[in-house]
Amino acid sequence: MRWLCTAATPNSPILDPLALKVVIERLSRPIELLVLGTMFVGLPLAPLLMAAFSGRLADAVEYWRSLRLAFRHVIEMYRSGATSRYVRWRAGNRQPSLLAPCERIEGECIHCGQCCTNKACVFVQFDALGRSSCRIYGTALWRWLSCGSYPVSREDIEVYRCPSFRVIRIQPTPSN
Ligand code: SF4
Ligand code: SF4
Repeated sequence: MRWLCTAATPNSPILDPLALKVVIERLSRPIELLVLGTMFVGLPLAPLLMAAFSGRLADAVEYWRSLRLAFRHVIEMYRSGATSRYVRWRAGNRQPSLLAPCERIEGECIHCGQCCTNKACVFVQFDALGRSSCRIYGTALWRWLSCGSYPVSREDIEVYRCPSFRVIRIQPTPSN
């Protein structure tokens, strides 16, 4: 098997990058279930973590409200498969997945909030005009997540029914 054959020499990696990607992609769903199970067990701590990450003390003070939001967030993460897509994106070196070489993703966000875990992320907020924004925008956590790179795959666009971004075909450049 390809991912077991590269440990022959002392300097070679145990798994080559492509094989590692395949392994991680196959493990993405079990990893997702593990992550979500951990989040579910840790739900009582969620309001405190929300306050710490957002810098908004009210998240902790309004404990039961935050707990309800966090519960909804985890359920929506499960339904949307957000974690397994994230794992596959990481395994793919943060490159858009499921795109042919002649395709690319284009669009301009209109801040509908759909890609924020179907508007269920504990950090999404909406202004009077219904435009979404992120309460942890630009933080280290935000950068570590895929939020700043959305949409990272064709799946992202489809799962959240993004009204703006789409996959387009690139016209080949005429050769001389
Ligand atoms: S779903 Fe698309 S349009 Fe809506 S907030 Fe996300 S990127 Fe923007
Ligand atoms: S951009 Fe902010 S609100 Fe949207 S999913 Fe990411 S962390 Fe949540």
